[in-house]
Amino acid sequence: MMTITYKVKNGIYVNMTNRCPCSCTFCLRHNGDGVYGSDSLWLEREPTVEEVCESIDKWELSDYDEIVFCGYGEPTERLDDLLKVAAYIKQKSDIKIRINTNGLSDLINGENTAPKLKGLIDTVSVSLNCVDKEEYFKTVRPKFGISSYDKMLEFTENCVKYVPHVVMTVVDKVTSKEEQAEARKICASLGATLRVREFEE
Ligand code: SF4
Repeated sequence: MMTITYKVKNGIYVNMTNRCPCSCTFCLRHNGDGVYGSDSLWLEREPTVEEVCESIDKWELSDYDEIVFCGYGEPTERLDDLLKVAAYIKQKSDIKIRINTNGLSDLINGENTAPKLKGLIDTVSVSLNCVDKEEYFKTVRPKFGISSYDKMLEFTENCVKYVPHVVMTVVDKVTSKEEQAEARKICASLGATLRVREFEE
């Protein structure tokens, strides 16, 4: 069965694509095929906007804190469809909407994408992962090359202008305290907030 939406704690997670321009060394896509007891998040095909909206309609949104575009893939690979779904959610509910992203939306879509998020997305959470571009390139392995790191930071800085909450994340287990301190500085310079997260998320 195809899992389009699933529940994690107080959130409804939306899985719209398995595409991603990266190949992170730690990606869950390389490790088994279900998280949090959900069905496989490998999509047999990408669901249409209508199918995603129908899947969201199955949940009582007032019971949850947020809707998160996440899944086994990079949500901004389908940015325009994602924003159609976000607009649909906004007209029926005031639930908060978050995108978990690798931050490479501008490279994926070939344009400055942060302005499109205005009024539709409440939180953008960008995986910073590493505090220098060489390390990032080795770990995240983006197909766009070494400049991906700077483009990710630029996207994040742009998001601050259009989105109420902009967060960057590093994973606790794989970053030193020094790296976390450096990550905090990078976030402060962009206007974002650092969140040190556990591996599973
Ligand atoms: S950006 Fe996310 S989906 Fe893409 S390879 Fe990295 S961890 Fe996996």
